[in-house]
Amino acid sequence: MNAAQLTAWLTRFAELVHAQRDELTALDSAIGDADHGSNMDRGMTEVVAALAEAPPDDAAALLKRTGTTLVSKVGGASGPLYGTLFLRMAGAIGDGFAPALRAGFEGVLARGKAEPGDKTMVDALGPACDVLDAGGSLAEAAQAAADGRDATVPLVARKGRASYLGERSAGHQDPGATSTALLLQAAAETLGGVQGQGEEATP
Ligand SMILES: [Mg+2]
Repeated sequence: MNAAQLTAWLTRFAELVHAQRDELTALDSAIGDADHGSNMDRGMTEVVAALAEAPPDDAAALLKRTGTTLVSKVGGASGPLYGTLFLRMAGAIGDGFAPALRAGFEGVLARGKAEPGDKTMVDALGPACDVLDAGGSLAEAAQAAADGRDATVPLVARKGRASYLGERSAGHQDPGATSTALLLQAAAETLGGVQGQGEEATP
C-alpha cells in the first residue's frame, strides 16, 4: 500500500462525501446538529488540498498528514474521531491495510468510548474490520460497513449528541456510520486490487 494508492482512496472518499454532503447533513439534522455533511466535506477538501500541495512520499506520512488536517480543520466529534482513525492507521500501515484499519478502529473506540450498538461510526467500521481480518475482500468489507450503517436505523443512540434524544433517536440512520460506509466504499473502488500488500510489496 503506497502513498499514491492511499491518495486515490482519500480523493475518492472526498468525492463521495462531497456528492452526499446534503444527505449527511440531513441525517445529522434529524438526530444531531446538522453539520456532519459540511464538516466532512470541508475537512476532506482540506485533506486533498494538503496532499496535493506537498505530496507525502510514504504511506505513513500521508495518513499522518490526513489525520492532523482533519483534527485541525473539522469541529465537533467527527474531526477528532476521523483524525484519530487516520493517525492510528499511520502507525500500522506498514503491516498492510487491514491491520492499519483495525488499529484505526481501536483508536476510534478509545477516543470516542463508543461500543458496538451505540449508533455511531463504530457500527460501520467494526464489521468492516472483522471482514478484513477474516480474509475478506474490500468489496465485502464495504458491504459489511453498509449493512452496519443500515443496522443503525432502529438503534437508540447512546453516544454523541444524538444520545440526548434518547428513544427519539430510533428510526434515523446514523450520519457517522453513513460517512464511514463511504470511506469503505471508496477503499473498495480504489484499493480493491492491491489489498493485502504490506510493506514488503511496496518498494
Ligand atoms: Mg454534528
